[in-house]
Amino acid sequence: MTRVNQNFTKLPGGYLFPEISRRVRAFSAEGPPMPLIRLGIGDVTLPLAPAVIRAMHRATEEMARQETFRGYCEETCGAYDFLRFAIRDSYLARGTRVADDEIFVSDGTKSDCGNIGDIFSSDDVAAVCDPTYPVYVDVSAMAGRAGEYDGERWTGLVYLPCTVENGFFPDLPEGKAPDLIYLCSPNNPTGTAATREQLKTWVDYANAHGSVILYDGAYEAFITRPDIPHSIYEVEGARTCAIEFRSFSKAAGFTGTRCAYTVVPKDLVREGISLNALWDRRQRTKFNGVSYVVQRAAEAALSPEGQEQVGAAIGRYLDNAKRLREGLLAAGLAAYGGVDAPYIWCRAPEGAGSWEFFERLLRRACVVTTPGAGFGPGGEGYVRLSAFGDAEEVRQAVARIRRAL
Ligand SMILES: *Cc1c(COP(=O)(O)O)cnc(C)c1O
Repeated sequence: MTRVNQNFTKLPGGYLFPEISRRVRAFSAEGPPMPLIRLGIGDVTLPLAPAVIRAMHRATEEMARQETFRGYCEETCGAYDFLRFAIRDSYLARGTRVADDEIFVSDGTKSDCGNIGDIFSSDDVAAVCDPTYPVYVDVSAMAGRAGEYDGERWTGLVYLPCTVENGFFPDLPEGKAPDLIYLCSPNNPTGTAATREQLKTWVDYANAHGSVILYDGAYEAFITRPDIPHSIYEVEGARTCAIEFRSFSKAAGFTGTRCAYTVVPKDLVREGISLNALWDRRQRTKFNGVSYVVQRAAEAALSPEGQEQVGAAIGRYLDNAKRLREGLLAAGLAAYGGVDAPYIWCRAPEGAGSWEFFERLLRRACVVTTPGAGFGPGGEGYVRLSAFGDAEEVRQAVARIRRAL
C-alpha cells in the first residue's frame, strides 16, 4: 500500500488567512457601519508597467509566427541569456559582481525557497526568524526538517526571536549552529531592513560554522535608506555562505505574472560539493523554465524605462507606508517598518493580543489587518498593515484608526 509523506499530516491546517476571511465575512454579514478597508493582503494592486506590457505583446506576436516561435528554452536551466544578463547587470549597477551562470530564473521565490531544501540533507537543522514569512517553516516541516508541532512551535526548528529590543533582526543563537538560516530583508512581516553590520554578523557566523544563509530579498526594490545593502553579496564573505532569492512579484507587480531568480555563487561549497552544481542539476531535472513571454516581460522591467515605471509604483506604495506609519505613530501606537518595505508592524496597545487588536480595528475602524501571531509565536501582540492599497483608502484608514483607539 502506498504510504504518504507523513510530514504533511503534522502541519497545522493553513489557519491564518482562512480565519481572517471567516471573521471578515461574519462582520460583513452583520452590516458594518462603513465600507471595509483591506490592509491585510500582501499582494500588489497596481497594474503592470507599460514597458512590461509592450514587451509581452511583442513576445506574444513572436510566438505566433513560425520563424520566431520558441519551444523549450535550451539555454541555462530554462533561462534566456537576455534575462540572465539583464539581472547580472542590475547587480553590477550596484557594484555587485554575480556571474550569469550563478543566476537561476524561476517562477517564484516561494517555490525556490521551498525547492532549495532538495539540495540539503534532511538532517540539516533550519533556523527561522520569529516572527517569519510562514513558508520557510512549512517547507522545512514538509521536508522532515522541523520535528513535531507542539501547538505553537516546531521542536526541530531553531527560532530566532525578532523583537523591539533587537530591532527586529535576530541575534546569533546560543548552542549548536543551525545548518540552514532563513533571513528575509527587507522583512515580511516586520517591515524592517537589515544593516550591513547586522548582515555581516550572520555572514561571519555562517562562514565560521559552515552554515548556509538562505537570504530572501523579495522586497529589495523597496529599500530607500542609502546605507541598507540591496544584496547580501554586498557583505564581504557572503559568496561562501549565502544563497539569495529575488522576485519580480513585489518589485514589478508580477505576483500574477510569475518570475523570480535565485543566485547560488560558485564559491559556495559544502562537503566538497558545489551548491551551484547541485541546484543546476536539480533545476534541470525538475523544472523547464519560465515562459518566453514572461522572461521578456521581466527583461523589460529591468530596462531603464521599465525601472522608471516600476519605481513610480513602488514610490506610491512607499508613500502609503509612510502615511500609515506616521499616522499610527501620531495616534500614539508603536509602529515599526514601512521605510524600506511595504509593511508596518504595529504593537497592540495596552498589552492586547494580536487577534484582540485585529478585532478592535475591524469592528471599530472597519480596517482589515493581519494578526501578528499568524507569523509565529513572536508575532503575538502585533498586527501587520500592508501598504499595497489605494492612497485614499490608506488616508481614510489612518483617520479611522485614530478615532477608534
Ligand atoms: C511575496 C513574497 C515573496 C514572493 O514570492 P513569489 O513566489 O516570487 O511571488 C517571497 N518572499 C516573501 C517574504 C514574500 O513576502
